[in-house]
Amino acid sequence: MKGSGSVDDRARSLLVETLYTQPASLAIGAANGIISSVIAAWISGNRAIAIIAAILTAVAVARIAFSVRQARMHPLEYSRRLEILYELGAFTYAALIGLVAALCIWFHVDGQVQVMTVAVALCYGTGIAARNAGRPIIAIGQLFLAQVPVIIALLSIGSLTYIFLAITVALLLPAMTSISLNVFKVLRKSIIAAETSARLADKMQALARTDVVTGLANRAGLNHQLVEKQMALCDPHKLALFWLDLDRFKEVNDTLGHPVGDRVLAEVAVRLRDQAPPGATIARFGGDEFIIVCELPTRFESERLAGAILEDLGRPFRVTGERLEVGCSMGIALMPDDGADIDRLMQAADLALYHAKINGRNQASFFDPSMTRDLVRRKEIEAELRNALQQDELSIFFQPIVDLETGRIRTFEALVRWFHPIKGEMRPDEFIPVAEETGVIITLGNWIATQAARACAQWPEDVTVAVNLSPLQIKAPGAALGILNALKEANLDPRRLELEVTESLFLEDNDNTGRFIEELSAKGIRFALDDFGTGYSSLGYINKFPFKKIKVDRSFVSGPNVGRKSDAIIRAVAEMGSTLEMEIVAEGLETIEQVQAVKEAGCTLGQGYYFSRAVPDHLAAMLLAQEREEDPRRRVAG
Ligand code: C2E
Ligand code: CA
Ligand code: CA
Repeated sequence: MKGSGSVDDRARSLLVETLYTQPASLAIGAANGIISSVIAAWISGNRAIAIIAAILTAVAVARIAFSVRQARMHPLEYSRRLEILYELGAFTYAALIGLVAALCIWFHVDGQVQVMTVAVALCYGTGIAARNAGRPIIAIGQLFLAQVPVIIALLSIGSLTYIFLAITVALLLPAMTSISLNVFKVLRKSIIAAETSARLADKMQALARTDVVTGLANRAGLNHQLVEKQMALCDPHKLALFWLDLDRFKEVNDTLGHPVGDRVLAEVAVRLRDQAPPGATIARFGGDEFIIVCELPTRFESERLAGAILEDLGRPFRVTGERLEVGCSMGIALMPDDGADIDRLMQAADLALYHAKINGRNQASFFDPSMTRDLVRRKEIEAELRNALQQDELSIFFQPIVDLETGRIRTFEALVRWFHPIKGEMRPDEFIPVAEETGVIITLGNWIATQAARACAQWPEDVTVAVNLSPLQIKAPGAALGILNALKEANLDPRRLELEVTESLFLEDNDNTGRFIEELSAKGIRFALDDFGTGYSSLGYINKFPFKKIKVDRSFVSGPNVGRKSDAIIRAVAEMGSTLEMEIVAEGLETIEQVQAVKEAGCTLGQGYYFSRAVPDHLAAMLLAQEREEDPRRRVAG
C-alpha cells in the first residue's frame, strides 16, 4: 500500500533522528571503547592490538564530532544520507570493538585484559541492540559485528570454558535480535498511530469547516478563512464582501422538495465559483445565503462582479427537467471604507442586503451610512406599530377620484394615516413596508378595509371606495374572508368596494392570488391596477385578471421625467383602456394644466392635490354634500 509505505518512511526518518539525539550516550560508549582498547594495547604490548586501538580511537572521535554537529542542525532533511553515514560509523566501530576482544583472546594476552575487552564487547553489543532499536538493521548489525569476532576467537581456542562462553554469547544474538525487533515494532506502531490520529483530526477539522451540500466553506470555514485573509492582507488592499440571498429559493424548496433545493444550491455554488476572482473566499452562510470575500482594487470592479453574479444567478436553473428561476439580492461592503474589520464589514453588507431586498429584490446595493439610520428607524416603527392600532393612533383618510368629464367625485381612495403622539405624522410609505415584513399588515389591512367600508356606507350609493391591498396581505390564508367580513360588518354592497393592487403582486406566480381575485370578483368587488408603469412591464396579467381600472402612476403626470414620452405612454394606456372597457385614472394631478393634458390624452378619471388631498371621513362626506348642493339634479339622484 502506498499510504503505509510513506508512513514507514516517516517513521524511519523520525527514528533516524533518535540515533543522533543522544550524543552523550554515544560519547560514553566511545570513551569505553577507547580506554579499554588502549589499556589492552598498553598491557599486552601487542602491535596489532595497538593499531586497532588507534583506528578505533580515530573512528570514535570522528563519530562524536559528527554527532555533536548534527544535533545542532535539523537532521530530518538529510535522513537517508545520515543513516548511511551513521551505519558506516556504527558498523566500523562495533567491528573494531569486537576485533580488539577477539585479538586479546587470540594472542592469549593477560586474563584480566581478556575479561575486560570481552565484557566491553558484550556490553556494547547488547546495549546498542536496545539503544538503536529504532533502526533494527543498525542495532542487529552492530550486535553481530561486536560479538561474532569474540565467538570465533573463543571457538578457535577451543577450551571447554571458552566453548561454553562462545555458546552463551551466541545465544545472546537471537535473544537481543528479537528484543530489538520487538522494540522497533512498538515504536513504529505508536508513530503510525500518532500520525493517523493527527491526520484524522485534520480531516475532521476540514469537514467541520465545509458545507456538505455545496462543498463551499460553511460559517465556521468562512470565519477561519477570513481570519487568515485578514492576517495576510497588506493593507492598501481593498477587501470587498458580497452577501447574497437567493430571492425565490424558499418557493423552490417548499414546492419541489429539499433534494431539488440542494441541487439548486450546488449549482449556485458552481456559478459563484465561476464568477469569483481567483483566491476569493466563497461560503454558504446558512439556508440560501452566500458570502464572497475577495480583494478588489476598486469599487468599479466590485460593481462589475456584482453585475456578473446577478446576471449569472438570474439565468434559469435546470433541475430534473424543471426550469427554475431563482435570482438573488446582494449587499456589498468595502474595506476599509465601510468597516475596518471583518465584523463591521459583515454588518455593513448585511444592512446593504436588507436594503436590496426591500427595494424590490434581484439587485445589488452598496452599503451607505444612511442605512444604519434607516434600520434604527425601522426597528422603532416595528416596535410601535403593534401598539398604534390598539391606541387609536391610526386613522383612514379619503382622497377623491374625480370624473374628468363631469368633475364629480366617483370614488374615494382610502389611505391610512398614523399620527404618532410624539413623532407626529408617519408616512405610509415608511410604515406599510414594515407592517408587511412583520406580518402586521394582515390585521392592519383588515382593519383598514372595515373602516373604509363603514365610511362608504354613509355616502350616496353612486360613490365607491377604493382600498389598497398589499401583496402580502393577499397571499395570507383567509385573505378573501377578511375583506368579505369587512363588507358584512359595514353592511356595504360589494359592488361599492374597489381593491387596488400593484403589478408586483403578479411577479411571483401564485395560485392564491388568482383564487383571491376570482372569488372576490365573483361577489361583485372590483379590482384596480395601481401604480401602473412603475413595475414589470408585462401586460399579460391585464388580460388574465378582470381589472376595471388602471391607475397610471403619478411619475407619468408630475415629476422630473414628464415629457413627450410619458405623454405618449398615457395615450397608449388610455387607448388600451377604451378598447378593453377599463377606466384610466391619472394619479398625482396637481395643476389645471396636468388635468387638461391627461384628459386630452384620454384618461377618464383623475386624482391629486388639484382636486383634494386625502381628508378625514367627515370632510369627505362634506365634499360630497357640497358637490350635491351645487348640482340639485344629483341631490335628487343621491
Ligand atoms: P398609492 O396607493 O399610490 O397612494 C397614492 C399616494 O399618492 C398617497 O400617498 C397620496 O397621498 C399621494 N398623492 C395623491 N395625490 C397626490 C398629488 O397630487 N401629488 C403627490 N405628490 N402625491 C399625491 P400616501 O397616502 O402617502 O400613500 C403612499 C402609499 O402608501 C400608497 O401609494 C400606498 O401604496 C401605500 N398606502 C397608503 N395607504 C395604504 C393602505 O391603507 N393600505 C396599503 N396596503 N397601502 C397603503
Ligand atoms: Ca393606491
Ligand atoms: Ca398609486
